[in-house]
Formats: sequence, C-alpha cells, structure tokens
Amino acid sequence: MNKLKLAAIGYGGMGSYHLEHLLPTEKDLFEIVGIYDIKDDRRTLATQKGLKAYQDRSALLSDPSIDCVLIATPNDSHKEIAIAALEAGKHVVCEKPVAMNAAELREIMAVAEKTGRIFMVHQNRRWDPDFLIVKELWESGEIGDLFQIESRVHGANGIPGDWRRLKQHGGGMLLDWGIHLLDQIMWLVDSPLQSVTADFSYILGEECDDGYITYLTFENGLRVITEVGTSNYIKLPRWYLKGTKGTAEITDWDLSGKMVVATNADVAAPTPIQAGVGLTKTMAPPSEEATETLPLPQGSNLSQSFYQNFFDVVTTGAQPIVKNEQVLKVMELIDHIFEIVEGRK
Ligand code: NAD
Repeated sequence: MNKLKLAAIGYGGMGSYHLEHLLPTEKDLFEIVGIYDIKDDRRTLATQKGLKAYQDRSALLSDPSIDCVLIATPNDSHKEIAIAALEAGKHVVCEKPVAMNAAELREIMAVAEKTGRIFMVHQNRRWDPDFLIVKELWESGEIGDLFQIESRVHGANGIPGDWRRLKQHGGGMLLDWGIHLLDQIMWLVDSPLQSVTADFSYILGEECDDGYITYLTFENGLRVITEVGTSNYIKLPRWYLKGTKGTAEITDWDLSGKMVVATNADVAAPTPIQAGVGLTKTMAPPSEEATETLPLPQGSNLSQSFYQNFFDVVTTGAQPIVKNEQVLKVMELIDHIFEIVEGRK
C-alpha cells in the first residue's frame, strides 16, 4: 500500500502536534514530507527536527511528490490556503474552525468539487472519550431519554495571548472552542434546531468574546446548553446530562463522574428537610432505595481515527466521518449566533 505524502502549512502549536503526535501513530499510512510557515524561526526549528522546510508556500504546493496538505494556520487564512492547495491538486486536511464563516466554506467546497480533491476538517473532538460516553448514553438510554445536555469548558487563563484575541484573525472563544462543543452536539442530535439564543462575555476587555453561552432547543424537545468560560476559577462539570430515568455527570477530561438512576422501587415518599430557613419535600433527597449510583459507561470508540478515515476517503472513496455538509451546518449556526449577539452578517 502506498503511503500518502503530507506536508503542513503552519508549524505552530497545532501543526507540530499533528506532525509529532497524531501522524506518527499512522506511520503506515502517511509519510511527512515537510512544512511551510511564514515565520523563519518555525522553519528553522523544522529543519532542526529533520523536516524539509519550504521557503515559500508555492514551492510546497508545486512539489509533485506531495499528495496532501495540512492547514494549521490562524483561522482567517484557511480559505485562501485551502483553495490554493486544492487548485494545486492536493487533498486537504484543515484545522477547525474551517473558515471565518459559512460563505467561505461554501467557496472551498465548490473548489473541492471542481478539482475532485478531498477536503476534510479536523473536528477531532468527535473522538474525545468524554464525548463518546455522552454518545453512548444518548444512544443506549441508560439514563432514559436525554432531555437536557449541558456541555461546558471552563478555564481561568483568559484568551491565549496570540491571534485568538483579534477579530481579524477569527479570534474569540466561540470560534475557538464553541466550534467543538457545537460540532459534537450537532453531530449527535438528529433533529432540526428549533431555537437558538446566545450571549458573549467580554470580562477581560478584549475585542473578541472571552466566553459565550448558547441555549439550543431541538424539535425533538431536547434542550442543550453549551458554554465556554475563560475566567472560571471554579469549573462546572464538563457534562451534565438529564434523562427521563436518571442524571449523569462527567466532571472533567479525566472521565471522573457518575450516573444516578431511578430504581423504580416502591418506596416511601421523601421526608421533608430543613432547607435554609424553610422546609421542603420537593427538594429532599430521594430515599436510599429510590436511586442507585453507577459508574459511567466506557463509551465506544469510533471505528477509525481521523487520519485512518482521511486515508480511506482519499484512497478508496470511503465515507468521511467528518462530512463537509455537517461542518457547514455548524458554521451556519455560528454565523447565526454572531448575528443574534453582535448583529454581524
Ligand atoms: P499558532 O499560532 O500556534 O500557529 C500558527 C502558525 O501558523 C504560526 O507558526 C504562524 O507563523 C503560522 N502562519 C500564520 N499565517 C501563515 C500563513 N499564511 N502561511 C503559513 N504559516 C502561517 O496557532 P495554533 O494553535 O497552532 O492554531 C492553528 C490552527 O489550529 C487554528 O485554526 C486553530 O483553531 C487550530 N487548532 C485546533 C486544535 C484542535 O484541537 N483541533 C487545537 C489548537 C489549534
């Protein structure tokens, strides 16, 4: 089997993560040829690590030995680089967010169609183990039918001090992290969106959102909250899920958490408790026999890794796990959120 020869455009944090962590696990499928980065020091570092560093982008794109290109540059440059790479006859893996808005993605998709090259977006958090637990709970009904999903990522470090703080580069937390949280939900839920409300936070005084919250309602009745915060010194759980038979919580990426499910045992009504200065029966804990606490399920892995799937899509015409139409739907949702919060078009 011939390996695909891959070169990266953008050799910063994520470009080097692909070349040094993700692709080496698929070394039977991919051969890394080299990189291009606009910064001299990144090109020098690449050569020190034994990679070929192209002096300019066109030298990389006109190298006939390269089959595919990874784009790992700031968000505002993805469209232009993707179109140039597709037109040079390369297949493309593009980092998220695919582009600045849905219109840019439509342009890229049209060029991919015209050139017959594969374009796939690295929505890698579909493979996250915490999300795969949620997917299992959604599909298995272990806590009944889910009627509310809360998906949060909280940090206390603000927006990283790079292009992510600047609008012109596609900065802000909605495009940075929200794209993952919304992609996970839109991939999971096979029901049309009914309503969307959203808000941004600007606690740190940056021009881009340093956090956001969205409330989504789906036609099947599911309600979803997604939230990103960068000024949260105490985190809320990564996932909080309410089902018709129980509740589950995944506390963090270490997969700590639990499920509490109703036993349906015939038990006495809860005894009223003192709550603050009042008395409540409604909020009293259920009697011990009424619920059981269980470990979270393991979640099933997807059948292929992102790069195994990309390889099969390119070489055998297999179905992509991350489909461009799905990515487009998420970008349209993001456009809509910008429109309702900022009046941006
Ligand atoms: P970064 O700033 O660390 O690296 C970007 C690199 O691109 C820099 O070295 C810069 O010099 C280079 N660059 C900028 N413009 C260029 C151009 N026109 N041509 C060639 N090189 C150029 O940023 P990063 O954290 O690596 O992010 C890059 C992309 O990866 C972003 O789209 C980001 O959203 C994405 N990303 C994805 C994940 C994920 O989990 N999927 C994680 C982090 C970043």
